[in-house]
Amino acid sequence: MEELEFHDSVDSKRHVTVHWFRHGLRLHDNPALLAGLRGCREFYAVFIFDGAVAGISTAAFPRMQFLMETLQDLDENLKTCGSRLHVFRGNPVEVFGKLIEEWGVTRVSLEQDPEPIWQKRDSDVKALCSKREVEWIERVSHTLWDPQLIIQENGGSPPLTYAMFCQVMEIVGQPPVPVRNPDFSGVSLPVSDNHDQKYGLPPLDALGVKAESDHQASPYCRYLGGETKALKLLSSRLEKERAAFSRGLSLPNQLYPDLTGMPMSLSPHLRFGSLSIRKLYWSLRLVYTQVHPNAPVPASITSQLIWREYFYCMSVNNPAYNRMKENPICLNIDWYDDENKFQQWKTGQTGYPWIDACMRQLMQEGWIHQVCRHATACFLTRGDLWIDWQKGLEVFDRYLLDADWSVCAGNWMWVSSSAFENVLQCARCICPVRYGRRMDPSGEYVRRYVPELKGMPLQYLFEPWKAPITVQQEAGCIIGQDYPSPMVDHKIASQECKLRMDMVRKRSEDVAHIGPASEAEALSFLWVTKHSNAEIMEVCNHNSL
Ligand code: FAD
Ligand code: MG
Repeated sequence: MEELEFHDSVDSKRHVTVHWFRHGLRLHDNPALLAGLRGCREFYAVFIFDGAVAGISTAAFPRMQFLMETLQDLDENLKTCGSRLHVFRGNPVEVFGKLIEEWGVTRVSLEQDPEPIWQKRDSDVKALCSKREVEWIERVSHTLWDPQLIIQENGGSPPLTYAMFCQVMEIVGQPPVPVRNPDFSGVSLPVSDNHDQKYGLPPLDALGVKAESDHQASPYCRYLGGETKALKLLSSRLEKERAAFSRGLSLPNQLYPDLTGMPMSLSPHLRFGSLSIRKLYWSLRLVYTQVHPNAPVPASITSQLIWREYFYCMSVNNPAYNRMKENPICLNIDWYDDENKFQQWKTGQTGYPWIDACMRQLMQEGWIHQVCRHATACFLTRGDLWIDWQKGLEVFDRYLLDADWSVCAGNWMWVSSSAFENVLQCARCICPVRYGRRMDPSGEYVRRYVPELKGMPLQYLFEPWKAPITVQQEAGCIIGQDYPSPMVDHKIASQECKLRMDMVRKRSEDVAHIGPASEAEALSFLWVTKHSNAEIMEVCNHNSL
């Protein structure tokens, strides 16, 4: 609707609008911002550090740094339009209470934050606005579809499997296309002379956030925040996709995931909304039709994005979604409580180089590939240590740049067999040696993040405890001294876990468990789709370890 109504007469320009940024930290495809600008006489862009906004209550240094860059970039882009970002600290109700007085605000526009954790904050400010007769404009654009619409179409509850979700999507139809860029012409954009002192971004340390290590302060790969960066990344990503489509493929299509390449991931930008999910979705489809003008667009080219929608949809009406207890979709499992083992996993000291490389990259850079997330999460939970997925979620939630309340917990429940997935019905878990070898065949990744093993020959790199002592001496790394011995014997540990899982399954026969998903769906998460059965068995089997 916004698209149709861009010309306001001078008389109709009566509103003093505040656009309240929280997620959706962008100017492109921002329907709430466009609606806020309609009939607007005076405009202010606002961001409020309330201790929780955009998931900062749990964020370590890398995600905070990414957020600050995103806000800086937003401020720069607003500057180009003649405006600025007004940054506040405090309780949003109090901040708005003052702004309504000081600026004479008559309208607040905002992108809806769909997750239940934001509801109280928003309903409190909404109540204030209603009391002061300030108009409230809320639009859905953090997800492709309004999750509540999907739930409604499904008869009042979320579709329980990904396949069912896709069926409901068919009924709902395509998501909205992106809206045009905002036009600030004819709108007064007050900026005070001492803007930076009054409304500038606080430095990170003033928010009490510091790097936890030298590695974190200057990581090997740095992911840069901001809409400008996101749109550039999108262009390169689309060129990659175009090349893949021309070869008759759709990404991810590589035989081996690119673990050590330049950071190309869009997920941190989707998480903060510095890239619009709808822009990504429709751009992918457009590129496909440019390459194959007469062919229908296959669902596979956007299927990853649909997983994100699915997890959002499951979480929006479930405030206990990120917990095991009181969470209707999550099985109660008697996980072990072993703080020592948990710390060994968290700090990358398990003695399994592939697992340790992944965990160290996570702690230093805030990003790890899907296959690394899967491997480490499986190792912590149903694969080896039998430790509670909520402990793992806490770590991911703190360190991942893209940590997202709905998506992160959803994936942890999936991998730990607590919900969503039918691994409960089969014995498969990831082998931390074979899977690592398969994903990092040159060993470059492991050597980068576990430098103790730099000199270890490839033959032993993924299981260095098997190297003869002379080889260890030559490599300058004595196992048990310079690098830990394996904290568990994977063969024994995984068999124990399997027995425990069998018990859970027996106990849970009558419990309504989400699922089942198909075998193909499970394997696509492991990056071993379209490869042979023998290969699947290789990465999962551990009998010869
Ligand atoms: P691409 O492969 O390019 O996919 C494009 C986009 O699709 C991603 O940016 C993401 O938004 C979405 N997507 C892809 N895979 C998934 C998935 N499995 N579930 C939901 N959405 C997906 N992703 C997050 O965005 N935030 C998280 O907090 C998060 N936590 C995870 C925790 C665990 C234990 C696991 C196994 C996975 C988690 N993922 C999470 C999903 C996935 O690993 C990342 O989205 C992906 O690696 C991001 O890389 P990309 O942008 O190159 O993805
Ligand atoms: Mg990818």
